[in-house]
Amino acid sequence: MGMAYALGIPRGFKYVRASTIDETLKLLNEYGGDAKLLAGGMSLMPMLKLRMTEVKYLIDILGINDLRYVKVESNYLRIGALATHNDIAMNRLINDNAKVLSESAWHIADIQVRNLGTIGGSLAHADPAANYYPA
Ligand SMILES: Cc1cc2nc3c(=O)[nH]c(=O)nc-3n(C[C@H](O)[C@H](O)[C@H](O)COP(=O)(O)OP(=O)(O)OC[C@H]3O[C@@H](n4cnc5c(N)ncnc54)[C@H](O)[C@@H]3O)c2cc1C
Repeated sequence: MGMAYALGIPRGFKYVRASTIDETLKLLNEYGGDAKLLAGGMSLMPMLKLRMTEVKYLIDILGINDLRYVKVESNYLRIGALATHNDIAMNRLINDNAKVLSESAWHIADIQVRNLGTIGGSLAHADPAANYYPA
């Protein structure tokens, strides 16, 4: 009986929004293992709702613009953790230099998921079926 109404509703947690990398590191230091980062929420939110995981503190990093970039530096292509799948699918630098990455991103789910889901979140979530790994 308990399970029937619990599914779909996460256990309670405290939501905190971080606006800089420094602030995130401070919060992670303070909350330790009781906290998780929230990026696009495309994997974490379903897991919380299905109660496959739980968390005391959720630190929302999606607003940290410094982590959302694609650039070339010293001949390396650099992709910020908060670059979305759509950013990667549509980016000219990636299309020209690492087309397999943009193609992989293009085939992830649907436009809604690609607009919110991030490459950092995908790599941290580490689902072996994720599109980026073979690329
Ligand atoms: C309907 C649906 C279909 C999907 N289909 C596909 C598919 O076909 N192929 C595919 O590859 N993926 C698919 N996904 C997963 C999607 O790509 C997710 O966006 C991605 O796996 C997680 O990214 P996120 O930004 O949403 O991370 P979140 O869900 O916010 O976080 C996931 C995990 O990573 C951690 N995390 C997030 N960002 C960071 C960071 N910067 N540093 C450290 N830890 C971090 C979080 O704490 C959490 O544990 C699908 C998802 C949905 C909902």
